[in-house]
Amino acid sequence: MLKLRLISEKRLILFFLVLIINFIFYAEVEAQTGKKITTVVIDAGHGGDDPGAVGRKCKEKDITLKVAKMTGDYIKKNCPDVKVIYTRSSDVFIKLAKRAQIANDNNADLFISIHCNATKSTQVNGVETFVMGEHRNAANLEVAKKENAAIMYEDDAENSYDGFNPNSTEAYIMLNFFQSEFKNSSLKFAEHVQHQLVNRVGRKDRGVQQAGFLVLYKTAMPSVLVEIGFLSNPAEENFLNSKDGQTYIASALYRAFRDYKKEYEKDNAIEGDSYEKIDTPQITDVNKIVYKVQIESRSRKLDNAAQQYKGLENIDFYEHNGQYKYTAGVFYTKKEADEYCKTVKAKGYSSAFVVSFKNGIRQ
Ligand SMILES: [Zn+2]
Repeated sequence: MLKLRLISEKRLILFFLVLIINFIFYAEVEAQTGKKITTVVIDAGHGGDDPGAVGRKCKEKDITLKVAKMTGDYIKKNCPDVKVIYTRSSDVFIKLAKRAQIANDNNADLFISIHCNATKSTQVNGVETFVMGEHRNAANLEVAKKENAAIMYEDDAENSYDGFNPNSTEAYIMLNFFQSEFKNSSLKFAEHVQHQLVNRVGRKDRGVQQAGFLVLYKTAMPSVLVEIGFLSNPAEENFLNSKDGQTYIASALYRAFRDYKKEYEKDNAIEGDSYEKIDTPQITDVNKIVYKVQIESRSRKLDNAAQQYKGLENIDFYEHNGQYKYTAGVFYTKKEADEYCKTVKAKGYSSAFVVSFKNGIRQ
């Protein structure tokens, strides 16, 4: 592993200058009338010697590759006018700079980098989507540092990243000066990704975030890095390591792409010209059984259920015989729901039990 020496002041200045030059050259007008989304680059994080996060049962590099390929397959099948390009389609190591270059060389309209998270705690779970920008808290900086550490596996990292040291907090402050012209579109796509993963797949929402990612900072198009879950959380690892889990995540990423494309092309349509309508069959959770943990019944609807059941996730309710039945969690296996039910009980809801739904109807 290459040991990067500490960044000197001189190097920081050089790095800063290079960033400004990059900014001037890459600055483009974001909104382009009549522009359509025709090329997407899907980037499976890590690969080869770089395993990324390592769980008890699987490695990040393998999960990201499977999800990337499935996402691409959904897009190809449902949006035949879109060219799908992968930065890697097998277990190989690709430098971070090369990944961005692939997107730039192909004039991609969108860049999606797929990753899995990990932390020391086995409790932490959920999904978050990053765009290039200023980190607002230490946790976001840690995610960026962890993902950027991939350049430790590169032999020419110092020259490839303008002297950037992934472990230097100062370097991230400098990186923050680089504000992509494509930030608005990146944020819009990131919102679609979170919406799908949270509301349709039931993952815990960690929000749209910002931090300095080397894989994103030279991309000349809207780009996001999505953390699809924590391999350090046993339940989430099981989900991500399962075919079902991967299918849910990939179909969510596809739907986010579809909705973003539709919205973008509508926003940029030439006046009087009807934009091409994408009529794609929705991949929904139709006929899939969804499990939730019923907390309690109430005769009146709560004004702020999330506040009432603070500490529990994905609070929802359904009505039955004039009663409001509140639930927590969304799971695709009974086993996961049973596990979560124990947590809910431990929080004081001793009569909690698991309920199942099919197409939104209690079974
Ligand atoms: Zn990663």
